[in-house]
Amino acid sequence: MTDINQQATAYDDNNIFAKMLNGDIPCHKIYEDDKTLAFMDIMPQAEGHVLVIPKQKAVDLSDLEPEFAAAVLMTSQKVMQAQRKVFEREGIIQMQLNGAQAGQTVFHYHVHLIPTSIHELGRHAAVMADQEQLAKLAQQLASAITV
Ligand code: AMP
Repeated sequence: MTDINQQATAYDDNNIFAKMLNGDIPCHKIYEDDKTLAFMDIMPQAEGHVLVIPKQKAVDLSDLEPEFAAAVLMTSQKVMQAQRKVFEREGIIQMQLNGAQAGQTVFHYHVHLIPTSIHELGRHAAVMADQEQLAKLAQQLASAITV
C-alpha cells in the first residue's frame, strides 16, 4: 500500500526532457514558442503520438504554474488541429500521468496527444519507433500547424 502523504518526486535537472530543452539531446520537434515545446514521442502508442512540455521545471500537474498550464493547452490545441489534418481523423487522446504510481516515467510535466481510440491505445513507452518515420511525421505535423 502506498502512503498517500509520501514525498513528491523532486525535479531532476538531468531528466531527458530538461536535456532536450537545453539542446543537449535531439528531438523530432514539431512546434516551439517561448513557453512550450512539442515533439514526437520516441515510443509512440499510435502513429503521430506527440508530447507537449512547458519550459518550466514542473514534475507533474501539482507544480505547473498557471501561465505554463495555459501555454501547454494552447500548444496542445495547435498540435491536435495539425494531427486532425494530417491523419484525417477527429479522435485524439489527450493523456497526462502524475507520479510513478500512475505510470509516469519522465518527471518533467508533459501532455500526450495520441491520434487513436482508447480501445486501440498501444502499450506505454514500450516500442521504439523508426527514426526516419518519426522525422517524416514531425515534418508533416510541423507544416500543418497554424500559428
Ligand atoms: P510518461 O510515462 O507519461 O512520463 O511518458 C514519457 C513519454 O516520453 C513516453 O511516452 C516515452 O515514450 C517518451 N520518451 C522517453 N524518452 C523520449 C525521448 N528521448 N524522445 C521522445 N520521447 C521520449
